[in-house]
Amino acid sequence: MPATKRKLIIVSNRLPISIKRVNGSFQSSVSSGGLVTALSGLTKTTSFRWFGWPGIEASDPEDQKKIQESLMEHNAVPIFLDKSCGIGFSLHTPFPVWDFWRGLPVGDDLVKGILASDLIGFHTEEYRDNFAGCTRSLGANIQAPNQIHYKDRQIIADTFIVGIDPKRFTDMLQNKDVQKRISELEENYKGVTLILGVDRMDYIKGLPEKLKGYDYFLDQHPELRNKVVLIQIAVPSREDVKEYQELEHEVSMIAGRINGKHATPDGTPLIYMHRSISFPELTALYCVADVCLLTSTRDGMNLVSFEYIACQAERHGVLALSEFAGAASFMKQGSITFHPVNITQIAEAIEKAINMSKEDRKRRYEGLREFIVTYTRYSIINH
Ligand code: UDP
Repeated sequence: MPATKRKLIIVSNRLPISIKRVNGSFQSSVSSGGLVTALSGLTKTTSFRWFGWPGIEASDPEDQKKIQESLMEHNAVPIFLDKSCGIGFSLHTPFPVWDFWRGLPVGDDLVKGILASDLIGFHTEEYRDNFAGCTRSLGANIQAPNQIHYKDRQIIADTFIVGIDPKRFTDMLQNKDVQKRISELEENYKGVTLILGVDRMDYIKGLPEKLKGYDYFLDQHPELRNKVVLIQIAVPSREDVKEYQELEHEVSMIAGRINGKHATPDGTPLIYMHRSISFPELTALYCVADVCLLTSTRDGMNLVSFEYIACQAERHGVLALSEFAGAASFMKQGSITFHPVNITQIAEAIEKAINMSKEDRKRRYEGLREFIVTYTRYSIINH
């Protein structure tokens, strides 16, 4: 047995402990349940601390203290909730249309669960309206785009634009080392149009599609050999999941094929990095790239598009953005949007982006910049 026990903190909606009021005091006992049974086998090597709702309403501070003491015998810490405490739910992924959603055998139960909240947040109006559409079959009444009436309750479902802290990026760009790195990159890529992609290695990011679109673009423009380079950062994600491993394999194969086909002794058209990079390196790349190419087949928002704009005050780079990224709902006007599974459209978007006039770049950029400095990570709090 190890000399010191490992420590494990568990947070669950409900504590695995039953608590009863007995003669003005409280008694607690461990409840039965699969999770409790499974974890009890670990008690010799591991010390637990559980956090969760104790399953009892207690508003009197004296009662709360007694409950706390009683639960401490079982290493449990109560989080007290009262009936009037409002519940907020925020979804950071897209919400699909009803026709798709109803195919899920547990779709109605999930929507009922979300409807228990008082305030429901989505990234875009499209996701919010899709959700509202799914509540209709449960008898909900949509009284206004952001108001749902369900079982005598009034629920607010609204959009909350998640943003970034642009200053964090502009401050980093002032850093001496980052400035040096920017100069190095500019020197290395003199006369070259630099396209940047920064994505998690996830199937929603459309990486195979992006590379195939780029390959097609290079096929169409042999005259641009050694004049255009795509730097693709693919940040490792969920590497223990088979589908993600397969995706990584597929992306590596396509990347290899592109360089096999289009590289010359003078250079390669694709720099593919399957690893994460430091924040200073990321900001330097954002700053020197002429185009940021994002091809998500689905994406809640996509903050990389915001970060790129935050770093482009001087260059006025072009954002080429999939119409299926949440960000496209807000940035469509200033960017070049395309269907992410249409290889021809991706190639056309690249061509349009690299040929855009300075004036056009500046005009589009200013609109995008206005958006990302208005909707920051702080503005959501003041919503
Ligand atoms: N990012 C990172 N490590 C890297 C490159 C990027 O953590 O090596 C960050 C990037 O700055 C951004 C986030 O990963 O803030 C990606 O967010 P996004 O909303 O674009 O996509 P998500 O990964 O949440 O689907």
